[in-house]
Amino acid sequence: MEQRRCRWRAAALAALVLAGLTAVPATADAAPAQAVTKRLAVVLVDFTDSRIDASAAYRAKVRDMYFGDGQSSARYFREASDGALTFAPLPGRPEVLGPWTIDMAAACDSGRMNTKTREMLAARGVTGYDSLAIWFPNRLAKCGWGGLGQQPGSVTWMPDGGSASGVAHELGHNLGLRHLSSVTCAAGTLSNCADAGYRGSSVMGGGGYASGLSAPELLHLGWVPPAQLRTAPAPGTYTLVPLHAPASVAGARVLELPRGTGGDRITVAYRKNGNTIDTGVGEGVQLHLTKRGAFHTSQLVDPSPATGGKDDTGLKPGSRVTDGGVTVETVSVTATGATVRVTGQASGGAQRYADAEGRCLDVAGGAATAGTRVLTWACHDGANQRWTPSGDRTLRSLGACLDVRGNATADGTPVILWPCHGQPNQQWTHDGTTLRSATGKCLTTTGGGSATVIRTCDGTAGQRWTRGA
Ligand SMILES: [Zn+2]
Repeated sequence: MEQRRCRWRAAALAALVLAGLTAVPATADAAPAQAVTKRLAVVLVDFTDSRIDASAAYRAKVRDMYFGDGQSSARYFREASDGALTFAPLPGRPEVLGPWTIDMAAACDSGRMNTKTREMLAARGVTGYDSLAIWFPNRLAKCGWGGLGQQPGSVTWMPDGGSASGVAHELGHNLGLRHLSSVTCAAGTLSNCADAGYRGSSVMGGGGYASGLSAPELLHLGWVPPAQLRTAPAPGTYTLVPLHAPASVAGARVLELPRGTGGDRITVAYRKNGNTIDTGVGEGVQLHLTKRGAFHTSQLVDPSPATGGKDDTGLKPGSRVTDGGVTVETVSVTATGATVRVTGQASGGAQRYADAEGRCLDVAGGAATAGTRVLTWACHDGANQRWTPSGDRTLRSLGACLDVRGNATADGTPVILWPCHGQPNQQWTHDGTTLRSATGKCLTTTGGGSATVIRTCDGTAGQRWTRGA
């Protein structure tokens, strides 16, 4: 556990000490989250030499930040979790407790405030809380932060000028979320990105209350049910409904693309204002990068370095990014959904392609020589049957590319291994059944052990290829 100091109105955060990152397993395969109610004690405290605003108006303002119908944390997390998590006051007590004096003079000492507040609550018989929110007068304490939250944990500290955004943010830390940062990437790629700091798309990233949680944050919390998630989607076209659409809206919300085998991920989701808590988010198809499965500390991708702006983070229609063999393209967006095309293989690993008779696409004799025929052969574990999709749509084995010989288009033209150049006669698309060359013809086998050729696509058995590990 650690504490997060959060400066809400500052452009930059105070230096933060990061603990070592801990890989967290994806929770998306878990059973749907059970509804949890956390009892939250919100306490106004006085120091011995400094008093917080004791007016009814101030109390009402604080109460509304936690439990109100407007911008409250209870509503924020209830909607973000589709009802899996609700913050509620202690039964039989006022929603906001105090002001009560704690036994210390004003000081920005969060540990002491916590100890003294707990002692004071125990002396008053206040027990049974899951979370504690301490509101204190900041005039003499002079804390330089806008809020503080254990991460993860159960205590938040708010100076008396705190906001609804700050309250939701600190409770997010209690749930284990770190700050969301961003990267700006060279156009069209995710492999050339520069850190761009704390930014957007979530209450954990400076988006404030008007921005729901990001897709990886929802994955971290187990708030993306299987019906809303497509993990390692096959190449194809997907419609995503808005990430924070009401629970009643059916359809996929998150595409999760593995990046290599170390737990790195790309998540793809569509953000559209007017969907529950998303009211002021940067709109569009958003990508986040996650390292080693640590969804709680992901980075938002800004895919358009040429343009700036806090909310300029959508992958615009007609734009695409390529990364490690997979390409994500935004086809279109509407008020109710985004259409996204995924091409290439997202596993980051090599795969085999088997024909209708169960034989594998094979570089004859395992020879990496330019011009070697590619045929079908009994499947084995050899490298000459392993094909790695690359971002330029090539299929690579033994360091060379699957190639239509001579860039010819006639039916019967042999398919060979050739040094990679990425021209159309080396570009292939697997649509789940056929392997189609960018020249317009389909990879075809004419029977067991025979060399492969291209032919006009006709869906016959010799043109059916199944991809597998
Ligand atoms: Zn923070």
